[in-house]
Amino acid sequence: MSIKRNIEIITSGLATGTSNSKRSCRLIAVSKTHPPALLQEAYDAGQRIFGENKVQEMITKYEELPKDIQWHLIGHLQTNKVKYIAPWVSLIHSVDSPRLAAEIDKQGNKAGRVIPCLLQVHIASEETKFGFDRNELLDFLKGPVPGTFTGLSIDGLMGMATLTNNEEQVRSEFRGLNALFEEISQMSFPPSVKMKELSMGMSGDYKIAMEEGSTMVRIGTAIFGKR
Ligand SMILES: *Cc1c(COP(=O)(O)O)cnc(C)c1O
Repeated sequence: MSIKRNIEIITSGLATGTSNSKRSCRLIAVSKTHPPALLQEAYDAGQRIFGENKVQEMITKYEELPKDIQWHLIGHLQTNKVKYIAPWVSLIHSVDSPRLAAEIDKQGNKAGRVIPCLLQVHIASEETKFGFDRNELLDFLKGPVPGTFTGLSIDGLMGMATLTNNEEQVRSEFRGLNALFEEISQMSFPPSVKMKELSMGMSGDYKIAMEEGSTMVRIGTAIFGKR
């Protein structure tokens, strides 16, 4: 099937929404490893938000492709690379440590802007996935540091479920993240923290993620094919 058709099918599913969620959900087209020509095809089909997981690759594509694309970084970000994307990145989904948040704040201030970010929460059973666990997240959010941010805003949470065919496990991980998101939404925070976005769901599990309250699905394979 064509990229255009794949996007149409996915976005019509997102527009329909689900009984479990009254939130609206946006599509992040995950274009990592694919050449700019394929991104252009998605762009021509109306897609404007693209997700990349490597800084250098995102910069190359940013330079080559139309300027109204919103670039989302979804992969682990090293602190020494924040400065290269700070002036133009639209959203960083993968803030996984206080140290990285501090560097983004610094580079946002240098670039004269507030960089929208999500805090990545570790919800999978695999050890290798990055992110805050529940206690680390609450400690960080309740601590004094977020109140000092002027170059970064915390707009919500991101999580990746375990890679498994066990749908009930995936659902319960997404449900747990949504519960945490709602719990945090009730707390009071400095202006730099707003719980607006819940980024969860990939090609294999985005329908479940939507049912559990996702506001952003990050989909690669189901749009562009295998990497
Ligand atoms: C690669 C990637 C995706 C997309 O995965 P697909 O299975 O191809 O849809 C989503 N989120 C993150 C963080 C990724 O690295």
